Amino acid sequence: MADDRSIRPLSADDVAAWDREADVVIAGYGIAGVTAAIEAARAGADVLVLERTSGWGGAAALAGGFIYLGGGTPLQQALGFEDSPANMKAFMMAALGPGADEAKITDYCDGSVEHFNWLVDNGVPFKESFYDQPGWETPFDDGLMYSGGENSAPYNTIATPAPRGHVPQMENKRTGQKGGGYMLMKPLADTAEKLGVRAEYDMRVQRLIIDGDRVVGIVAKQYGRNLTIRARTGVVLATGSFAYNKQMIESFAPRLIDRPGAAIEEHDGSAIRMAQALGADLAHMDATEVAFFGEPQLMARGILVNARGQRYVNEDTYPGRIGQETLLRNDNQAYLVIDEDAYETGCAADSSTPFFRFRPKWVAETVEELEADMNLPAGTLTSTVAVYNRHAANGEDPVLGKKAQWCKPIGSPIAALDLRNCTAGFTLGGLRTSVNSEVLHVSGEPIPGLFAAGRCTAGVCAGGYASGTSLGDGSFYGRRAGLSAAKGLSAAEG
Ligand SMILES: Cc1cc2nc3c(=O)[nH]c(=O)nc-3n(C[C@H](O)[C@H](O)[C@H](O)COP(=O)(O)OP(=O)(O)OC[C@H]3O[C@@H](n4cnc5c(N)ncnc54)[C@H](O)[C@@H]3O)c2cc1C
Repeated sequence: MADDRSIRPLSADDVAAWDREADVVIAGYGIAGVTAAIEAARAGADVLVLERTSGWGGAAALAGGFIYLGGGTPLQQALGFEDSPANMKAFMMAALGPGADEAKITDYCDGSVEHFNWLVDNGVPFKESFYDQPGWETPFDDGLMYSGGENSAPYNTIATPAPRGHVPQMENKRTGQKGGGYMLMKPLADTAEKLGVRAEYDMRVQRLIIDGDRVVGIVAKQYGRNLTIRARTGVVLATGSFAYNKQMIESFAPRLIDRPGAAIEEHDGSAIRMAQALGADLAHMDATEVAFFGEPQLMARGILVNARGQRYVNEDTYPGRIGQETLLRNDNQAYLVIDEDAYETGCAADSSTPFFRFRPKWVAETVEELEADMNLPAGTLTSTVAVYNRHAANGEDPVLGKKAQWCKPIGSPIAALDLRNCTAGFTLGGLRTSVNSEVLHVSGEPIPGLFAAGRCTAGVCAGGYASGTSLGDGSFYGRRAGLSAAKGLSAAEG
């Protein structure tokens, strides 16, 4: 075989013998991979999943587990929330752009209730309870929560607020270590196994094999040996984002240099590179999710200011939006200004992220003193607090639209938490795919035999983000990828 470090496609003519064969071959056993495997197997295909680590799971099994679903799911209905595909689409188009893929978002919203039912039918448990507090996640095992700022400015005036963060039930959670994502992956991996899906581990996919312009297999390395794996009907790429590929981050999403988060080291962009070498098109490579290490129960009760002492986001919104506003538009500079009462109340409230309850760096009796201690330009923080307090006294925030329940004048003693450089994130861009999860060539045509889903593709997020959209579009379009790859079966035979 030719140079084994090459990422260029290998011609099938150069394959002397196939080491493995299946109808559908899937690279990566996380959320996109497992959902593709289930649907391909149900469509009658013989399925082989190749996973680089020693077990299924990927980032999905570590995840908090939000799956972004709506349009009137049985869980939303049982908990008294009204939603429709059109309402969900209005939110997603506004919050996930600019440049959001309307065809994908329409398709995703129209299919969302069916997708919820599919997950339940495949064993994913959701508890009928709603968590109504600000937070990164529910600290308990509740099944539903706002996860994208739907009930906060500016989106609460664009679409009727409806919570869409659906969380698989998981007891004794620990954020970042043992979350609802496990209870998404476990039943799905069990289902795949029951359907006869084969999986091989410690198998690192590194190259595509082509016959003319059709993808017919994969080269993977296992224990130092290159293996050729034939895919009779289709290859599905599902290897995750490029958050841990230093060179790609520098080229495409430099704001994330040295700050990968909510991803795993295996997210090295390998699928994107392999398909690019075949002429695949890309989309939204600059788009990033940004986590912010701020405690939502504290942020809602204070004000966030930048290096100019000015507020820049409504503090009661989705913390991921706060993260994007901080890193992408305020140079990663943030301070939380809060009075003693609000700090103590916020610290006593329920939270999934108590480790974000940082101690104040500066404490003062007056805003003027605090401003001077923080070295902010004279008059900046004082005028910000004066304007905020003036309106908060009436329960209003005409500047940024924080909800009345959180508008309370900031009193004394007053403190500031130093939240500079408190961000991390993962990439949202990747292979451009159709609604049938076909990988599109730069010409706009599908590359025959090649399908993809999950964070190696550009999904429903083009710039903005809502928690749950990664597991959401990864599972939704993972299913499509499996079906499309299995359909190649009849095309190949007939
Ligand atoms: C702590 C944490 C919390 C999160 N919370 C949420 C949340 O609540 N909601 C949400 O939507 N998202 C969340 N995410 C993000 C989400 O988990 C990922 O974006 C999602 O799992 C991506 O799906 P995927 O199928 O593309 O990748 P993964 O689920 O990571 O699966 C990719 C798999 O491919 C394997 N692989 C990589 N390269 C190769 C290769 N060359 N050959 C073979 N196999 C390979 C990997 O080992 C991995 O198993 C969270 C992530 C983390 C880490």
